[in-house]
Amino acid sequence: MSWKQIDEARRRLEREQGFVIKGWGGRIPIALVYPNSYFLGMSSLGFQSVYKLFNAYDSVVCERGFYSAATTGVPGADTEGWSGSSQAARAQQAAHREPPISLESQRSLADFAVVAFSVSFEMDYFNMIGALRQAGIPLRSSERDERHPLVIAGGPCITANPEPMADFVDAVVMGEGEVIIPALIQALEETRGLDREDVLKQLATVPGVYVPAVRNQAVRQWLKDLDCQKTASVILTPDTSLGDMYLMEVSRGCAWGCRFCLAGYLFRPMRPRSLPVLLEMAAEGLRHRRRLGLVGAAVSDYPWIDELVGRLREMGAGLAASSLRLRPLSRKLVEALLATGAHTLTFAPEAGSERLRDIIRKGISEDEVFQGVKLAAQFHVRRLKFYFMVGLPGERDEDIQALIDLCLASRAILDSSSPSTELVASLTPFVPKAGTPFQWEAMTPAPEIMERLDRVRRALRRRHVQVRHESPEWSAVQGVLARGDRRLADVLAEIERADLPSWQKAMDAAGIDAQEYLGSLPLQAELPWCSVDTALPKGLLERQRSQAIQIMENEQGCSAAEA
Ligand code: SF4
Repeated sequence: MSWKQIDEARRRLEREQGFVIKGWGGRIPIALVYPNSYFLGMSSLGFQSVYKLFNAYDSVVCERGFYSAATTGVPGADTEGWSGSSQAARAQQAAHREPPISLESQRSLADFAVVAFSVSFEMDYFNMIGALRQAGIPLRSSERDERHPLVIAGGPCITANPEPMADFVDAVVMGEGEVIIPALIQALEETRGLDREDVLKQLATVPGVYVPAVRNQAVRQWLKDLDCQKTASVILTPDTSLGDMYLMEVSRGCAWGCRFCLAGYLFRPMRPRSLPVLLEMAAEGLRHRRRLGLVGAAVSDYPWIDELVGRLREMGAGLAASSLRLRPLSRKLVEALLATGAHTLTFAPEAGSERLRDIIRKGISEDEVFQGVKLAAQFHVRRLKFYFMVGLPGERDEDIQALIDLCLASRAILDSSSPSTELVASLTPFVPKAGTPFQWEAMTPAPEIMERLDRVRRALRRRHVQVRHESPEWSAVQGVLARGDRRLADVLAEIERADLPSWQKAMDAAGIDAQEYLGSLPLQAELPWCSVDTALPKGLLERQRSQAIQIMENEQGCSAAEA
């Protein structure tokens, strides 16, 4: 490690409020690592909560680390935050290749007993491996012994399918930290000094912990009553896009179950926090920040949203929200967001036509999209942003035309009363995810996706609609990792810098054809992630998939009746 790094870490701490410094004597040192930039990691409420949960134990000292050997053009790099500052975010994501150190005591990751990765996104697997390599920790679990840290990981994508990373991690935490961490800490305490094999065997007995070397069946764990934990900002720093906010989680999970959406299945069931508890959290937050960031899979879905917004406004709070659904869309929430500093409204129709929205079970009519646009126009929002996916199962030419038409009609609505509002269409290639009803579907090949993106771009050029999109080639890499298996370890271990030529070279060297992972999968196939039990009702994914196929086949609308 260099003096520059140490100095940078100390300067970070000087700008933070709420970090924990503990002596190491007799404690289990855990490095909690976000395999991406500080800027992104410190915007993650999940990352911050796990830090708090670990440090709540006197027997543990948990310190943070970040590692981002940046790649360019990777999908999911839309780092604008909730209010828009992508330039700043990307500048913060500058690559560095120095060994990662902990912020709090500036120690190497190799000095810790446990290195716990909090992974948001498949593309961060490259950074996870880079962090281990730079820290001098043997990459594969089988190469590590008692001298090395235990490597643990958690987060939605690695929970849904841990197999591509199975050789690199000793254990995967499947589900919510509040439930798993107490038993995990107990297991770590009880196994101190034991040899590695015994430690792994013991970890495999902890509910929600998957140990790839043992291949135990692990069941996702989730917190029944959100009120027993106040999930809110732990560390405040100005150095993120959400730096002026105190984040507080209003609900977890989502009741809508869009068929492509990992969050919609992996965080089930939808659980709201009660109003009195949220008001207590808000009172605490307002001691630190004037603005509260409401976090949830679909904040506008919170059952008492209007009352919550009213009470928070009475308390003098400025508001921001992580996500809004077009149905239900609380006018009061939108009004409060825009009145208190939000400049961007983001809606996710996901598909241009109602037919395709039915197939994916989005549950939003065209009229509801236009109602949202009218609301944005009425409040003269500075920027309205739409999220769409391209290459969805069942997508046809006319769906792409419908996407274009939807953007043009929205532009016309804005032009009639708020012409200065920017309209941005952000397009993402559809990536089938393990653990969703579309886990068996094929991914549309990158050249075809590119054609459709070009068509949208051409049609909206000079029509006052900005089009942004993610790289179809990188999305295909994401698709491989999302449904991959242990053979990919040889590919991932080979890559020192995550760029497309290196990826292709490593795939060729391993003799793997990406199409094996990107094509459609037979329903009867044994899926690589079959050791994961995401605790969903039996047959739910199959039923949801067959409902989608029925719509594709008979071209009628869907009632989206099944919860
Ligand atoms: S509403 Fe949003 S979070 Fe909920 S399932 Fe659909 S896409 Fe996912």
